[in-house]
Amino acid sequence: MILKEYKDPYLAKKLSEKIRILAEEIEEDLLFMHVCGSHEWTISHHGIRSLLPKNIEIRPGPGCPVCITPSEDIDNAIKLALEGITVLVYGDMSRSKGTFGNSLLESRSDGAEVQVIYSIHDAIKLAKTSPEKEFIFFGVGFDTTSPPTAYEILKGFPPNLSIILSYRYMPPIVGAVLQSSILGIDGVINPGHSSTITGMKPYYPYFLETKKPQVFAGFEPIDILISIVMLLNQIKNNDYKLENEYTRSVTWDGNLKALKKLDQVFDLDKSYVRGVAHIEESGFTLKDKYRHLDAYLKYGIRKKNSNDHFVYGARCGEVIIGLCEPTECPLYMKECTPHSPKGPTMVSFEGTCRIWSEHAIIKSIKKIQKV
Ligand code: SF4
Repeated sequence: MILKEYKDPYLAKKLSEKIRILAEEIEEDLLFMHVCGSHEWTISHHGIRSLLPKNIEIRPGPGCPVCITPSEDIDNAIKLALEGITVLVYGDMSRSKGTFGNSLLESRSDGAEVQVIYSIHDAIKLAKTSPEKEFIFFGVGFDTTSPPTAYEILKGFPPNLSIILSYRYMPPIVGAVLQSSILGIDGVINPGHSSTITGMKPYYPYFLETKKPQVFAGFEPIDILISIVMLLNQIKNNDYKLENEYTRSVTWDGNLKALKKLDQVFDLDKSYVRGVAHIEESGFTLKDKYRHLDAYLKYGIRKKNSNDHFVYGARCGEVIIGLCEPTECPLYMKECTPHSPKGPTMVSFEGTCRIWSEHAIIKSIKKIQKV
């Protein structure tokens, strides 16, 4: 199939009919979760929820990297930036608020040294261009964004560059979602980007523990619909497994070159996933050989791994874990909008509140145009 066919309306109609038949045969109410901002975008943008029968629900889970970055890391990045160390950060992350209600970008008006960058390579370039200054790279993301950082660490960081390491490893996060009795998930659509790096293998222990269906899916609407058919077929046939819809990118073993680099530089440790929990082996930490690059260590900051705070009245934590919908938050599109975000899920382009708000705006513009 070429990529255009993954948007084919005729195929989408046939697949939604297949979903309707399977759902009718199964009869039970089923709750699926995906853990990827790009999946939520596809589902919202193409109105996939409107194609599903009443007994099938798909909820977004903790798949937005900015949303799950602990406020403690934001607070400490702000503190260091106010001390004159230039913090290099991605655009979305620079707008996410810490415990005290301000973001890195907002703290610029108090004198914080903050610069928005697009990649770790920009950070290396900037640090090399100004050797007289101190820089910190705020490393945020999942298994997709951590390998380039591992690569640069292996090549050698400039001495004036250190890192706040907020990278998270996705498989244990999916494991936590599957194990959660509060969520009561019947199956998971696994992320396409990060699984391209990790492969399917690290998800297998969580399958053995929970015996719940998992399907690795691509990002086009047909990918999502096929993955729902796969989940339903597994449930109907009582034949649970790890299945791969995204065969054009995800393999069992993953990207071995990238995994080797990650393994050379990082260990995995228990970490806090904002809004979710402290999860074993979900956080990347530097191996002893590279620990001197850790900004916390370099600048004498003790990591508390504390629980998180959101703005008063906000339901960001519940939105991150899929326990409530953005529209159930009292601040949604009132105090909290894409122009004035109060929580991380409205800040990030991969956050559920942001995605829902933009599609609500598109829908109302279309309505106005019709009138
Ligand atoms: S609308 Fe804003 S405050 Fe409410 S959950 Fe979403 S990001 Fe958080």
